[in-house]
Amino acid sequence: MFTNKPAAMKLRHDIKGIDKKVPVKGNKSRKYTFFDNAASTPPLIPILKEIDDYLSWYSGVHRGTGYKSLVSSKIYDDCHEIIGKFVGADLSTDTLVLVKNTTEAINKLAYRLQLKSQDIVLITAMEHHSNELPWRSRAQVRYIDVDKDGILDLNSVEYLFKRYHPQVKLLAVCGASNVTGHVNDVHSLARISHAYGCKIMVDGAQLVPHQRFNMKAHSDSDHIDFLAFSGHKIYAPFGSGVLIGPRETFMSGPPEYQGGGTVKLVHKNEVFWADPPDRDEAGSPNVLGAYGLARTLKYLDKLGMDDLAKHEEELTAYTLAKLRDLNSLTVYGSQPRVGVISFNLKDLHHALVGAILCYEAGIGLRTGCFCAQNYVRHLLGVKETNQHLEHYERNELDKIPGMVRISLAPYNTRAEVDHLIKWLKYIVDNRYEFKRRYKYSPLHGGFIPVDLLNPEYINKIYNRYMD
Ligand code: PMP
Repeated sequence: MFTNKPAAMKLRHDIKGIDKKVPVKGNKSRKYTFFDNAASTPPLIPILKEIDDYLSWYSGVHRGTGYKSLVSSKIYDDCHEIIGKFVGADLSTDTLVLVKNTTEAINKLAYRLQLKSQDIVLITAMEHHSNELPWRSRAQVRYIDVDKDGILDLNSVEYLFKRYHPQVKLLAVCGASNVTGHVNDVHSLARISHAYGCKIMVDGAQLVPHQRFNMKAHSDSDHIDFLAFSGHKIYAPFGSGVLIGPRETFMSGPPEYQGGGTVKLVHKNEVFWADPPDRDEAGSPNVLGAYGLARTLKYLDKLGMDDLAKHEEELTAYTLAKLRDLNSLTVYGSQPRVGVISFNLKDLHHALVGAILCYEAGIGLRTGCFCAQNYVRHLLGVKETNQHLEHYERNELDKIPGMVRISLAPYNTRAEVDHLIKWLKYIVDNRYEFKRRYKYSPLHGGFIPVDLLNPEYINKIYNRYMD
C-alpha cells in the first residue's frame, strides 16, 4: 500500500477518523477517501491526546497569578518559538504573531505595512483571493503574468520591478498554488525583490504543509521577509494561523484591533502600546490553537518532513500518470508541484463529477474556482463577465465554469488513488446515464441524485452530534 515509507505510514496511522465510513447511495457505506487536504487536513490522534491532557492545566494567559495561568502563559509564549523554528524564523529579529488563519495573517500585514494609496504591491496572477484582495484594498496592485499553463513569468517580475520601483513596497506571492499545486521558486523571487530594495511576503498556506520550508537568515539575499500560513492545513485545525516578519514592522503605530493585551499603559489621552507580538494579538489568545499547532509541528519534525514530502511527490507522480491515461481529461498546471491537481472531465460539469464521487464513491474533494477566480478563468480561457454574478445571485452554480481538484497529503495511498481513477473512468464511460440521474438543485447549490432528494443522507451522521 505504501512504497516503503514508514513516515507516511505512521502519519496515516495517527490520522483521526482515517477508517470512517460514510453513507453512499443505495443505503450502503464506504470507507471515506479524503482528497481535500488543501482545504483542511484532519487532526492527529497523539496531538488530540496531548491537548486533552493539557486541558487539565488550561487557563487564561498573561493575566492571572494562579499556577495554571503561569504554566499556560509559558506554554503559549514558547509555542511562538517552536512554530517559528519549524520554518527557520529567527525570533531574535523577527516577530511571530498568532492569528486565526492565512487570510487574517495577510490582512494584518496589509494593515501593518501602512501603505499609501500610490504604493504598489506586486502580486501574481495565480493568487488565492486571500493574497489578492487585502492588497487591492490598501494599495495599487500590479499582476505578474502567468503563461497558459499558469506558471509565473520571471521576465514579467523583472519588467514590473524595473518599471515601478521604488514605488513597489512588497512582492506578495504564493509558495504553491491552491489550484495547480505549482511551486514557485520563492527564494529566487526574494533575491530579485531584494535587489530592488523591496521585501517579499510568501503565502505559505499550500507550501508549508507539503515541504520543509526555511525562511533563511536575514543576511541571505534569498531570505523570506514575511511568511503566512494556516494551522488547519497542517493537521492542526484548532483555529490558529501564523504571520512572521521583521520586528520593526510590528513596532510602529497602533494595532488594527485594539483592547486588552495590546497595551502597556492607558491614560485618558494617551496609549502606550505593548511590544510585539502582544500588540497584534488583541484579546484573550487562542492558547489551545497555539499549543495544538506547536505540538503538531514538533510531531511532523520528528516524523521527518523530507520523508513525507518524498512520499507525496511519488504519490503525485503516480496520480498524474494515471489521470493522463484516462481519455477525455484535462489536467491544469505543470511541474514542480505539490500534491494539488485540478482537472476537468470532458463535457461533464465539475460539480457533477464532485457530486457523483461524493454520493457514490465516498470521495471528498473540491470543485469550483477554489477562491482563485482570476487564475481559474485564465487556465480555462474564460473571460470575465457579469453574467457570472447573476448566476451566483441565483445560486446557479451549474452555470459557473470551474474545475475538479484533488489535493493529496502524504498519508494518502495508491489504493485510494486507484479507487478515484476507477470511478473517474466509470463516470466517463457512463456519463449520459449520470447526467440523467443527477439534477442541479439551486436550494442545495449542487448536483444531487434524483432519487436522493431528501435530507436523510446528511442527517444520519449530523443528528448524532447535533441532537
Ligand atoms: N492562500 C492559499 C494559497 C490557500 O490555499 C488558502 C486556503 N485555501 C488561503 C490562502 C487562505 O487560507 P485560510 O482559509 O486558512 O485563511
